[in-house]
Amino acid sequence: MAADIIEAIQPVFKQFASDNYAGICPDAWQAMERANCGFASSYGDDDWTGQACSCIREVFETDCQVFFVFNGTAANSLALAALCRSYHSVICHELAHVETDECGAPEFFSNGTKILHIPGSGGKLDLTAVEQAITRRSDIHYPKPRVLSLTQSTELGTVYTAREIGAAGELARRHGLRVQMDGARFANAVAALGVAPADITWKAGVEVLCLGGAKNGMAIGEAVVFFDRGLAHEFEFRCKQAGQLASKMRFISAPWIGMLRGGAWLKNAAHANRMARILADELEKIPGVLLMSPCQANAVFAEMPDDMTTALRAAGWHFYSFIGTGGARFMCSWQTTEQDVRMLVSAVQAAAAGPTEVPHGKNGHV
Ligand SMILES: *Cc1c(COP(=O)(O)O)cnc(C)c1O
Repeated sequence: MAADIIEAIQPVFKQFASDNYAGICPDAWQAMERANCGFASSYGDDDWTGQACSCIREVFETDCQVFFVFNGTAANSLALAALCRSYHSVICHELAHVETDECGAPEFFSNGTKILHIPGSGGKLDLTAVEQAITRRSDIHYPKPRVLSLTQSTELGTVYTAREIGAAGELARRHGLRVQMDGARFANAVAALGVAPADITWKAGVEVLCLGGAKNGMAIGEAVVFFDRGLAHEFEFRCKQAGQLASKMRFISAPWIGMLRGGAWLKNAAHANRMARILADELEKIPGVLLMSPCQANAVFAEMPDDMTTALRAAGWHFYSFIGTGGARFMCSWQTTEQDVRMLVSAVQAAAAGPTEVPHGKNGHV
C-alpha cells in the first residue's frame, strides 16, 4: 500500500521555480548515509559536527565559529538578533530576503529591531543611499543603525565583486556598523567570481555569514559562520530557544563534509550558473523577451508579455513571477540539465510564436 502511494507521486518535470525544488545531490546524500552508521552523540556534540566545522574553517582559511541551523530564515534572523539590540536597525536592500521573505522573523527574534530598506539597481545596495540612511538621523527617535546586511549572490541573480563588498565593509566600519551576509547562494557567487571565499567575506569586512546549504544541494541546513568569535557569545542559547538545535545534529552537519571536502559545493554552483548562462543567452534571442537584470549567478529574470507567461504555465511550467508586470524568474540548480534548459527555451519560443505555432498541441492549449 505504501509503495503504491509512493509510486503514484510524480516528480515535477517542467520547473525553473527555485533551486530548492532540486533533490539532494549525491555527495550530500552519501555523507548522510555514512553518518547513519550507528550511535553518535546528540545536539552537535559529535565527530561529524566537529569535522564539518573544521571543513568550513578550512574553506574560509580562518578560525571561525560555526553553528548549524535548519533554514535560512533562522540563520539570518538569529545572526541579526545576535548583532542587535531591540532599538537598533538593520540596513538592507529593499528586495532582501530578510525584508521581503522572512515574515518578520528578524524583527521577532531581535525583539523589535527595525529593518530599513534601501534601493539599488540589480538587487545591490547603493552605498550612497546606505550612507544617507545611516547619517540621516542620530537622535533618540530614530532606530540606531547597527548592521549592514548584504545578500550574495543577490535576490536578482547578480553578484557583488570583492571590491564592492570591501567598499560596503569599509562604509559600515566607518559608521560603527556590523556586516552580515545572507549567503543562501554564496556558493554561486564564489563560483561566478572565481575568488577565495575569504576574499569576499572576512577579508572584505563581513563579520557573520549565513552560508546556504539547501539550495546548493543539501536536504536541509544552513551554517551561521562568525568570523568575529566575540559576536557568537551565547549564540547556542539563541539557537536552542528558537527551536534550531537539532538533536540528531549529525544529519545536518555531515552533508557539509561531503559538500566541502571534494569541492561539490562549487561544482554544483558552477553547474547551476552555467545552466543559467545558457538559458539567458537563448532567451535573449527570442522576440518579446527582455532580460531584466544581468545573469551573473544561477537566476535568469525575464520580462515577457502576459500571454507568454500564461502559455508557459498552461504548458505545465513552474516558475515564479517577479516584481513588475510580466516578469518571470527562472532558477537553475545542481540538478538542472542542459536538456531542461533546451525544453524551456523551446517552450518560450513556442509561446512567443503564438497559439497557432504550438506543434501538435503537445505543449498544451494556450
Ligand atoms: C532561500 C533564501 C533564503 C533562505 O530561505 P529559507 O526558506 O528560510 O531557507 C535566505 N536568503 C535568500 C536570499 C534566499 O533566496
